[in-house]
Amino acid sequence: MLQGRDRNWPRATVARLLFSRSQRSPWPRRATPSLFSKQKVRVQRKSSMSPSLGSSQEVYDVVVLGAGYAGMMAALRLGRRRLGLRVALVNGSEQFVERVRLQESMVAPVKPRIASLSRYLRRTNVQFIRARVLSLDPVRNMVTIEEDGSPRTIAFEQLIYALGSHVDTDNAPGALQHAFRLDPGEDPRSAAALRAALHALAGCSARVLAVGGGPLSVEAAGEAKSTWPNMSVTLLSLTSAGDFSSAKVQSVVRRDLTRLGVELVDNERVIEIESNVVNTASGRRFPFDICIWAAGMRAPPIATQAGLEVDAQDRVVVGTDLRSVSHPAILAVGDSAHPNGPTGAPFRASALAAAVSGVYAAEQVIARNQGRLIRPFSFSTFAQAVAVGRFAALFPLDANDHQMLFVLGGRAASVLRSILIWLVLHFITFERLLPGVQTWPGRKRAAAPSASQKSADRPDVQLKAGR
Ligand SMILES: Cc1cc2nc3c(=O)[nH]c(=O)nc-3n(C[C@H](O)[C@H](O)[C@H](O)COP(=O)(O)OP(=O)(O)OC[C@H]3O[C@@H](n4cnc5c(N)ncnc54)[C@H](O)[C@@H]3O)c2cc1C
Repeated sequence: MLQGRDRNWPRATVARLLFSRSQRSPWPRRATPSLFSKQKVRVQRKSSMSPSLGSSQEVYDVVVLGAGYAGMMAALRLGRRRLGLRVALVNGSEQFVERVRLQESMVAPVKPRIASLSRYLRRTNVQFIRARVLSLDPVRNMVTIEEDGSPRTIAFEQLIYALGSHVDTDNAPGALQHAFRLDPGEDPRSAAALRAALHALAGCSARVLAVGGGPLSVEAAGEAKSTWPNMSVTLLSLTSAGDFSSAKVQSVVRRDLTRLGVELVDNERVIEIESNVVNTASGRRFPFDICIWAAGMRAPPIATQAGLEVDAQDRVVVGTDLRSVSHPAILAVGDSAHPNGPTGAPFRASALAAAVSGVYAAEQVIARNQGRLIRPFSFSTFAQAVAVGRFAALFPLDANDHQMLFVLGGRAASVLRSILIWLVLHFITFERLLPGVQTWPGRKRAAAPSASQKSADRPDVQLKAGR
């Protein structure tokens, strides 16, 4: 049988690290309420001075990194007062960025529907920290953040990694320097900078080149041509533009892009971007005034730098319990996660996958707290919509993400897409209003743990690294 000190290893480790100088732990061994015991957990918030950083350090039961769809859902589910968990949510901005509307910000700033996260989370147990995550130490269970220009560390027992993704510029030389991308923030190549560049050229028949054949570049090219019809907009694809679901979807997307006047160039592999020209492997050169790079996404490098097992896009490799396979006290969700087993529907980057994986990760943490095992993560898809400027393609999906029945295009689909996007935001609103009530399609697709698993697969043992 495991001894108390083994069961409480994360808290004991943190306590040792924080109080080793004085040899005084704030949690006497016998009296320590384990996060994984069945008893209700007391709120824990302890401070100590960090000699290296010269700033105060806090200990949380759960730290959530990133307040996108995934991080918000996780934090809200964990922030229920009756759970008594001390939860911190760290995010770079005070506003909630609806990434699904970033292409709209090419034209005008998108008014945030959640303008102040600290106000939004006021009545929950979630401590919002507006800060940039600098690094993660998965051995000492600590995160270094930069808040108001000063670095400090916070400690955690479990961490939910929800830092999302950004456009991958590593896959073509020159993309970082010479192309814009649909990323939020103040970077000189961000969506806001792209908007300024497009407005500056609004009167001229500028050449806009969008690279990538997936939904992101389709949305970028469609938005540019819809708003500035006098610009010449070209969509350059490695395979065939719009080839991300079924042939039916592709034909509607291509039809609407062509109706808008976007020129489609297929089967061109970009090898280099110069200041005003894109070179492809076939030897063709595509001159541009504005290039929008939208050929692939990758997660932030923080997990990779921390030594977690990651894939080629820096996403954390997780099991079907969404725990890191190398560091199980860390869970990864949304665009930053790469589950290494079946998840029902394929786990592609989407607001739905982000939101439901966020809720599941919170449920995992709560289950550990209560000494329970829960079934692996799974979900089902039901619809997808892609904006094509003033048009859109909207289509029902079966549980496994395959398009079925029909594909709606044109203006009607665009209106329905706006409603769908609004509904996605209301996953979050609803979770805040009635925390813990919301469920999701396909959550029972994976088998529940059997009685023998329950006894063999003890939660307290599983959390140790290298299980
Ligand atoms: C233009 C565009 C259109 C899209 N359209 C659709 C659509 O129609 N439907 C759909 O399902 N999906 C769509 N997507 C994909 C969808 O937006 C993502 O899959 C989803 O946002 C992922 O959610 P997330 O919570 O994992 O990450 P994010 O939403 O990216 O959130 C991550 C959060 O972490 C924060 N963060 C990152 N790094 C740091 C750091 N170092 N320090 C502090 N904070 C940090 C970010 O600021 C952000 O708040 C679209 C994406 C784009 C770019």
